[in-house]
Amino acid sequence: MKKIGVLTSGGDAPGMNAAIRAVVRSALSRGMEVYGIENGYAGVLNKDFIPMGARSVSDTIQRGGTILRTARCKEMMTDEGRDLAARNLKEAGIEGLIVIGGDGSFHGAEALCRRGIACIGLPGTIDNDLAYTDYTIGFDTACNTVLDAINRLRDTMSSHNRVSIVEVMGRNCGDIALYAGLGGGAEIILVPEVPYTRQEILDYLGDFRKSGKRSGIIVVAEGAGHAGELEEFIKKNTDLDVKSIILGHVQRGGSPSNFDRYLGTAMGAYAVGLLAKNIGNRIVGIKNNEIFDMDIIEGISIPRKFNKKLYDVAKTVV
Ligand code: ATP
Repeated sequence: MKKIGVLTSGGDAPGMNAAIRAVVRSALSRGMEVYGIENGYAGVLNKDFIPMGARSVSDTIQRGGTILRTARCKEMMTDEGRDLAARNLKEAGIEGLIVIGGDGSFHGAEALCRRGIACIGLPGTIDNDLAYTDYTIGFDTACNTVLDAINRLRDTMSSHNRVSIVEVMGRNCGDIALYAGLGGGAEIILVPEVPYTRQEILDYLGDFRKSGKRSGIIVVAEGAGHAGELEEFIKKNTDLDVKSIILGHVQRGGSPSNFDRYLGTAMGAYAVGLLAKNIGNRIVGIKNNEIFDMDIIEGISIPRKFNKKLYDVAKTVV
């Protein structure tokens, strides 16, 4: 393969730039031409193809977001849009495409594979909601951002005998709440995968006072409840001083952690290796510390499994 493209699609995630950088430089080292495609699939439809040199990705490994920008593109959901996208790539001589994004973006990649473009998907999303891989690019940084907020809250909370409720991202997937809650020593972790009643929260807060604790952290994934509502409920039913915070989009930004730079770099280089062998229709992941690839549809059809064991561990160490 002589000419390949790379794009980022869906939500941005820290570490995407490390992946773009690795794709560009490892492709160049194999004598391939690389095009950066701006704004996800919208850039394929608009022919926003930018030739990338080794220096075009200088000074990007430490930056959050994505230098290629990202977009959601409705036209790619139609057959006409997909046909046009494949046609534009073929006309530009781009034979292979590396798509960094989530499962929606992988569906787009699979549609292009069926139209003769060899596509490789890299998991770029802070949510860690792709079952085929242990970790996605951006998840570790998002957890560290939440952890930083928890650390700061702890300092002020313990001076005030206060309960803090921290709402984090995760509509369907509670991994950010679980991992950052675990690392932050949260007293209660609420995730969409594990049902709970509000009475259980009150019971726990009662026990928690009896055990001598005077302040506590509740981490709630957005798909498991709203911080403001929980705050009102606890205030109404206890005499605890409660404050809630929604971390929101700060969780998407920031300089990527070393782990996300490693994942982006290792997966980017691996994806180029596949295209160099004319292999497409694959997604790249990490399992048991090994980078691997598998069929796109097979990978995105795997049902997500919540790490209940870890969740139970978190409950025993408060
Ligand atoms: P995130 O996990 O950050 O939300 P994502 O890749 O799942 O990332 P989506 O908004 O679902 O985000 O998808 C991103 C883009 O991928 C869409 O805007 C669209 O252009 C393309 N896409 C999504 N689903 C399909 C599909 N079934 N066929 C073709 N293209 C698709």
